[in-house]
Amino acid sequence: MTGSSNESWPAVFLDRDGTLMRDVDYCGDPREVEVFPQGREALARLKQNGYKLVIITNQSGIGRGYFSETEYRAVEAEFLRQLGDGLIDASYHCPDLPTSGSIRRKPGPGMIFEAQRDHRLDLRRSFLIGDKASDIACGRNASVRTILVQTGYGMSQSDAGADWVARDIGHAADIILAANDEREARTANRRNRS
Ligand SMILES: [Mg+2]
Repeated sequence: MTGSSNESWPAVFLDRDGTLMRDVDYCGDPREVEVFPQGREALARLKQNGYKLVIITNQSGIGRGYFSETEYRAVEAEFLRQLGDGLIDASYHCPDLPTSGSIRRKPGPGMIFEAQRDHRLDLRRSFLIGDKASDIACGRNASVRTILVQTGYGMSQSDAGADWVARDIGHAADIILAANDEREARTANRRNRS
């Protein structure tokens, strides 16, 4: 990566289905979009604290022919409308099938690395939030800290090797901001000692 850490942004990589909205399995219809009520406030707090918010979502429904790229865009537009304007900085989706061996498809880290290049993100200061073991593995594959939310599939999942387990997206934001405060306290301590 070029540039030092203060020239790049920390990010929170966000799974969509089951993390920020109800997971209805292969959502191709905007009428099925139901964003979790805690999402907007949680993301607003993260954004206020300097985090870029990046959606990374597997959408093999496209590759399977269940819905088109255009229908995916319509679902995304409704998702962003319900979440509220100006919160999400970027959105990446992977239409590939599980059998494709695609590095972009989670647990592959491809979408994170793409976002890192496009938006000058500092992965060492970044986090991933998701509800499946494949999300957590994706974060680990990109060396970002991971939080499993117990919404969507997360209810029936072990911790999947996540650094933290959160009740929902609001609790996940609390965890990130507490880790952030701790980091700043440590930095201040080091400065005071030197
Ligand atoms: Mg999910």
